[in-house]
Amino acid sequence: MSNVDYLKDLLGEKGYKITTQRLVVYELLKEKEDEHLSPEEIYELIKDKYPEMGMATIYRTLQLFEEIGLAIKLNFDDGCGRYEILSPDSLETHQHHHLICKNCGKIIEVKEDLMNSLEEIIEKQYNFEIKNHMVKFTGICSDCRKKENFNGNRKET
Ligand SMILES: [Zn+2]
Ligand SMILES: [Zn+2]
Ligand SMILES: [Zn+2]
Repeated sequence: MSNVDYLKDLLGEKGYKITTQRLVVYELLKEKEDEHLSPEEIYELIKDKYPEMGMATIYRTLQLFEEIGLAIKLNFDDGCGRYEILSPDSLETHQHHHLICKNCGKIIEVKEDLMNSLEEIIEKQYNFEIKNHMVKFTGICSDCRKKENFNGNRKET
């Protein structure tokens, strides 16, 4: 299924129409998936091509995407909400994890779930059926670690 068809179907299911704004924001999030774009970044990227789309429109569009389960808002403690698009198959699977470097702010994706045994323990001990999770690890990325080792000083954070 093409991106457009998928978006059209999902919007239609919830009683919404596909519009240029919705398509533009969707395709941008999809194309730059690894960057976890913020509304401000989306605005910067499209303002030349779509000057009629202001911040309010972008916020509204992202809110709608969240509502219909197309995207999730992530908080990486960098002062802005960042968005990640969920693909049709990821609607059924668990969210991947994020590693956030406290030094350079880089966000690294951990594609594997790796939580199976923890999930099992939680389900047993708390009689809680896990549907998904949001896990973020903060620390120092490998690039920064290399640099720190080179300088010979490890920062305590
Ligand atoms: Zn899981
Ligand atoms: Zn780093
Ligand atoms: Zn991600």
